[in-house]
Amino acid sequence: MEKILHQPLGGNEMPRFGGIATMLRLPHITAPEQLDTLDVGFVGIPLDIGTSLRSGTRFGPRQLRTESVMIRPYNMATGAAPFDSLSVADIGDVPINTFNLLDAVAIIEREYDRILGHNIIPLTLGGDHTLTLPILRAMHKKYGKVGLIHVDAHADVGDHMFGEKIAHGTTFRRAREEGLLDCDRVVQIGLRAQGYTAEDFDWSRQQGWRVVQAEECWHKSLAPLMEEVRERVGGGPVYLSFDIDGIDPAWAPGTGTPEVGGLTTIQGLEIVRGCLGLDLVGCDLVEVSPPYDTTGNTSLLGANLLYEMLCVLPGVKYR
Ligand code: MN
Ligand code: MN
Repeated sequence: MEKILHQPLGGNEMPRFGGIATMLRLPHITAPEQLDTLDVGFVGIPLDIGTSLRSGTRFGPRQLRTESVMIRPYNMATGAAPFDSLSVADIGDVPINTFNLLDAVAIIEREYDRILGHNIIPLTLGGDHTLTLPILRAMHKKYGKVGLIHVDAHADVGDHMFGEKIAHGTTFRRAREEGLLDCDRVVQIGLRAQGYTAEDFDWSRQQGWRVVQAEECWHKSLAPLMEEVRERVGGGPVYLSFDIDGIDPAWAPGTGTPEVGGLTTIQGLEIVRGCLGLDLVGCDLVEVSPPYDTTGNTSLLGANLLYEMLCVLPGVKYR
């Protein structure tokens, strides 16, 4: 089949509040022969049984789609025209087992093996942060060790949660132990608040990772930081994992484990836009919990960050 440059449904073809909710009002594509023609796929993972405090991220993918309806094709700030060169679609949700986290993790890995088998760059709508581990496992099979840009209030490097080795707060320790990451090319941004011990963030530093605590980001543009980040993580495949709680709860309250003193919406945009030029092989936006998102602003920001991720993928045309 020929590659088709799918376009978001325009606001004059169907009202923005009408029609079936897909990410960016793109077509929903699932047929294998059509998946082969795609460059990029938005994938939902309605997972929340890996959370430790407030739940609700199972509703994240649907709400991100709902809040994506205002997003128009052309990026007026950066000049990106993603739909002029890339074939993009919403490829639906992963049918997780919501009664068994380990089985859900196995299902996610299988689904990403399949998606990567179609040579699709996945942009994932979470879902809690547990889901990044099986995605990284699938990425490792295709690309080997990847670099990582991880935006989060938390390091997510706990050894266990309530005795469980897999949960949303252990993801990056497991990824490290399993050899999925290129430790010279890992950066964590936005970490803050309190630890169980005073050394909590040092485990990451001991792996050779660059840790940028939130305080290092306060009161300034992150464009210079992203120059350093590109320098550090470039030179190989990179995965971007963006936990919405990296952003301050003033802008993104709809999440399960909020922490004060976080990044601004503008800094979030600077981080994603600062990834331009990297060999991004996949991105996720996790931990949006619609029951706590009473204004819809958290989902709206999440949807926009996913659009910005699309805009910095390899092969995007700039006007
Ligand atoms: Mn996280
Ligand atoms: Mn977090």
